[in-house]
Amino acid sequence: MKILVLNCGSSSIKFKLFEMPEEILISYGSVEKIGEEISIFKYYGKVKIEEKLKVETHQKGIEFIAKTLVENEIENIEEIKGIGHRVVHGGEGFERSTIIDENVIKKIEEYIFLAPLHNPHNLAGIKACIKIFPKSIQVAAFDTAFHTTISEISYLYAIPYSFYEKYKIRRYGFHGISHRYVARRASEIMGKGKYDINAITCHLGNGCSITAVKNGKSFDTSMGLTPLEGLIMGTRCGDIDPGIILYFLEGLNFKSSEVSEILNKKSGLLGISGVSNDFRNLLPLYNKDKKVTLAIDMFCYRIKKYIGSYMAILGKVDAIVFTGGIGENVPLIREKALSNLEIFGVILDIEKNKEIIGKESEISKEESIVKIFVIPTNEELRIAFDTYQLIINS
Ligand code: AMP
Repeated sequence: MKILVLNCGSSSIKFKLFEMPEEILISYGSVEKIGEEISIFKYYGKVKIEEKLKVETHQKGIEFIAKTLVENEIENIEEIKGIGHRVVHGGEGFERSTIIDENVIKKIEEYIFLAPLHNPHNLAGIKACIKIFPKSIQVAAFDTAFHTTISEISYLYAIPYSFYEKYKIRRYGFHGISHRYVARRASEIMGKGKYDINAITCHLGNGCSITAVKNGKSFDTSMGLTPLEGLIMGTRCGDIDPGIILYFLEGLNFKSSEVSEILNKKSGLLGISGVSNDFRNLLPLYNKDKKVTLAIDMFCYRIKKYIGSYMAILGKVDAIVFTGGIGENVPLIREKALSNLEIFGVILDIEKNKEIIGKESEISKEESIVKIFVIPTNEELRIAFDTYQLIINS
């Protein structure tokens, strides 16, 4: 069964076409810079296409993807039985992936206020696909769904309770599709049932978050109401004293848009190093440039701080997992974040760790009580799997 997976951002669409349940990736690609003067289309399948063209809307982009698939991989669009859409915010309403109907669309619309930068574009993709692939079953997979098992002790902020009741201000958490994928994969590797594992999953990419997984379910996670809380990220600050925001606004008279720009776009690795938000640019300067070194050390310190606190709340930990562009490709980060944790049963195989770049592997020493894994994330495959399951059970 052919399943198409779509991830629609503000100006981009990423897609992957799978044969399920065999988990075969047939083709993949992206349309970038939608709505700009020149858009970029990339396609990798039976043919390789990299071309510049003008794509005004998500609808036009998806029409173009559909046309390319029919020209190269499939007889007609009806061969695509299901389309899985990544949706960033499912609020408290969605505990798992779900087949899209009018009610689901309405609810996703209602959650726009919680994710104004994401949900409208996810919806644009869904609405376009309903028109372009009228016979396919559409499925929404939510970044928040995995975290709906977190209890109120963790998801409430200690502000007046009425703000939760009235405005739904609480921790939601993100990257759930990735945390769930790597937690499930770790349990498979360890020969455990999927609800039989306690793990700490570190998704370190452009955005970074860390999740405490208890009995296969999300128990706590570092991102909050928005994806700004928690770990230090490329350009995002992660945890800060909220008093800093008040000082920006009242002491320094910044506008709220300026504060948002500082915390979301100018902070994190970029803000401290003054050089880049990308590890590929920072690593060559480690131990050479003072601020770059400080930024990387702070990044690892924050991860370690979360790992320690999640070990404390979980009690028993079977595995620590690293994923995402940084987690998969930067041994230095794994080494620094896990240093001196031997007393907690976490013993990294330093030489093995150095060798593992971008591939699945255990990187702990034999005697380590807590197993340590690098597991490349595959959110699209997870979405394809959910879509396939919902179709065969519908
Ligand atoms: P992601 O959002 O998971 O695609 O991760 C993107 C980030 O991962 C980039 O900003 C880089 O900091 C980092 N990254 C990706 N590939 C590499 C690599 N080969 N070496 C070092 N860092 C990488």
